[in-house]
Amino acid sequence: MDLPVDEWKSYILQKWSLLPKSIQVTISTAKTLNDLFLHSSLLLQPEDEMFLKRLSGGYLVGKDPDASLFYREKGNKKFQEKDYMGATVLYSKGVSHSGPNSTDISLCYANRSAALFHLGQYETCLKDIVRAQTHGYPERLQPKLLLRKAECLVTLGRPQEASQTISDLESNFAAKPTLSASQFQILQRTLCRVKVKVQEKENLPEVFPEALTKTFEGADLREENEQIPSASSSVSLHIDPVKGRYLVATKDILPGELLVKEDAFVSVLNPGEMPLRRHGLESKWDIQVTNGDLHCHRCLRRTLAPVPCDGCSYAKYCSQECMQQAWDRYHGVECSLGALLLTLGVFCHVALRSALLARFEDVGKVIKKLCGEMSNQGISLPESKDPAQILKYDLRGEGGKKDKAVETPIPGCDINGKYERNYNAVFHLLPHTENHSPEHKFLCALSVSALCRQLEAAGLQAFTTDLKPTKLKAAETPVLCAELNVWGVAMLRHMLQLQCNAQAITTIQHTGSKENLITDTQQVRLATALFPVVSLLNHSCSPNTSVSFIGTIATIRASQLIRRGQEIFHCYGPHESRMGVAERRQKLRSQYFFDCDCPPCERERQRPSAGPGREAFRCHRCRALLQGDDVLSCGGPACTESVSRDLLVSRLQDLQRQVGAAQKRLRNGRLELAIQLLLGCQSDAESFLSADHSVVGEIEDTLAQAYAALGDWEKSATHLQESLRVVEVHHGPSSVEMGHELFKLAQIFFNGCAIPEALNTIQKAEKVLLVHYGPWNDEIQELQKMKSCLLDLLPIPGGPQE
Ligand SMILES: [Zn+2]
Ligand SMILES: [Zn+2]
Ligand SMILES: [Zn+2]
Ligand SMILES: [Zn+2]
Repeated sequence: MDLPVDEWKSYILQKWSLLPKSIQVTISTAKTLNDLFLHSSLLLQPEDEMFLKRLSGGYLVGKDPDASLFYREKGNKKFQEKDYMGATVLYSKGVSHSGPNSTDISLCYANRSAALFHLGQYETCLKDIVRAQTHGYPERLQPKLLLRKAECLVTLGRPQEASQTISDLESNFAAKPTLSASQFQILQRTLCRVKVKVQEKENLPEVFPEALTKTFEGADLREENEQIPSASSSVSLHIDPVKGRYLVATKDILPGELLVKEDAFVSVLNPGEMPLRRHGLESKWDIQVTNGDLHCHRCLRRTLAPVPCDGCSYAKYCSQECMQQAWDRYHGVECSLGALLLTLGVFCHVALRSALLARFEDVGKVIKKLCGEMSNQGISLPESKDPAQILKYDLRGEGGKKDKAVETPIPGCDINGKYERNYNAVFHLLPHTENHSPEHKFLCALSVSALCRQLEAAGLQAFTTDLKPTKLKAAETPVLCAELNVWGVAMLRHMLQLQCNAQAITTIQHTGSKENLITDTQQVRLATALFPVVSLLNHSCSPNTSVSFIGTIATIRASQLIRRGQEIFHCYGPHESRMGVAERRQKLRSQYFFDCDCPPCERERQRPSAGPGREAFRCHRCRALLQGDDVLSCGGPACTESVSRDLLVSRLQDLQRQVGAAQKRLRNGRLELAIQLLLGCQSDAESFLSADHSVVGEIEDTLAQAYAALGDWEKSATHLQESLRVVEVHHGPSSVEMGHELFKLAQIFFNGCAIPEALNTIQKAEKVLLVHYGPWNDEIQELQKMKSCLLDLLPIPGGPQE
């Protein structure tokens, strides 16, 4: 998804392998990104562009009235089955495929408003009713829509507006009796019902629904840093030849303190699996729901009722405002390139969008800077292996002075030493040019050149609108115009930077079926973004901070006490609780090009295999833990048992398959059978796995879900407590994983009306989650609701007994 699609990747690799050795050498040894880009883009032939064009032709990104009808009909089917959520999403797909001001789009909006009404989303329903009307909803169907509007207004406690709508409706009838007698009767009856409700409500004081949108005010930095905007004054920026740039605590920091709150410089929603259109066999339009259907493509907020771009079917937004902003800032250029960008991958898309956003800063300055830095070969030189050299290169370019200790500002900082959260900062993130393989650099360079050619061919003066106009015809000038070339080099730099600097924006997805009353959570990747300040943090496999996201805003909180002078760390992915030291170090080396020497890595390297660990097997005779490599032997006193690892591993795989089968039964509502299977798994696991094995935890967790679905809260709680114990061993008592598990336990106690246990667990869950997410987290809000509900149930101590 980040890189181009496989077909293009293998096409380019093939092309690379057929290049004469001398050209391969020229490209491999190019001294600057400028040279790399120029040499590569000269090799992009018209037939390559044709191939790419054919590939992108497989993505449906335009509007298609047939698709609109198809999705509306599918939506109607779901609506009849009372699957209102499913219907809403399908109507949204229908909306995306209809042109503005068409009957198609108005029908889709109107149908979606009906589904939203059933989902209790009255405010959003009203918005869709207005949208249906502005896009030309047919006159003859108006009464139905107005009636729905009146019902929404009544439910929302807005009787005056409801009355107004009803009188509109009545005068509408009087003027044009377009309904059949029976329809008219139904309508009359409904009208009476609504009128009664309006009268009831009128007697009550008018209440306005609480603002649903969460404000973010509660999560402000206590004191903003003068040197680094978006960071707290509890940290400061440092640089050294080995570590590069990094942040250090300027005072003791308590767990939960907000250290960075930063809006992404650029972010691109990951479209999810967008299947290429297949010819023949299957239906042309897929009804699969992806993140792209449920989140705003600009602000990333979850939305049930998106509005589409007028020009394409893939960009969708939470509101008209987001749509307009996206259009003005980047989508105006990107809109016609949708299929190409899907083919070239998210990194290429982020690279283009970064360059487009740079236009809004002082373009002349940026261009001059780019040209200057490229011609003096300062910035784009491949980094030397010697870290001191890296520093020298990166410190060059800007000539300002701050004080004697730091002769030149830290890269990305202005002449006053202030780190700017702008294009300058983004540009200075390291591309690690010399670490990438020549094939990879060639792939990136050709992908960017193909994108530049498209921009040019489309006659888009994407980057040059504010400068002197340069309109070139692609056919006449195979060489890109000079400015587009500069931006091409910049985009190539971004593409290479992203491998080490891209930050995944994640969201917690709640997965819980109707019969499954406790919600399970799963972290999913929503977008790829660049955060200049977050990028300043170095990696540790056991970080002292925790990152979370609201929309495009990243927040970093201390997850433990950080002493003054200690470095602030962030985990790039390989966390010590998720993988072993060898796997972690291999990952960090291949993706981030460094050898991790964080404390857990050092510790584990000095004492390799210091025991069987938590994922250990145990002896079936005496239950002691087994130790060893290929053949494991029992560590118990007076036991001589030994087993081959292969045997145990295949037994484990077998067990995991059975657990999977039980989970499937659970999802299908076959609870008794699921429990029976799981109990079998449980005793099997006991016979050969350590009590702390993660599979043991998984079995317990699934049993807890199954019993909860049966309404047996007591048993459910017992099993979840076992799962909790395993999670604690693996992730620690104050880990975010522990927070999610405690949240589930709180739900179980709450549903089982075990008031003291519930209150106790809520308190624990809140404490853990607050450190990682701050007060605006959904789960914390939910916990608070549960708490106030339980406190109402508690008898007042010393009060009168009834
Ligand atoms: Zn939005
Ligand atoms: Zn568009
Ligand atoms: Zn490490
Ligand atoms: Zn034994």
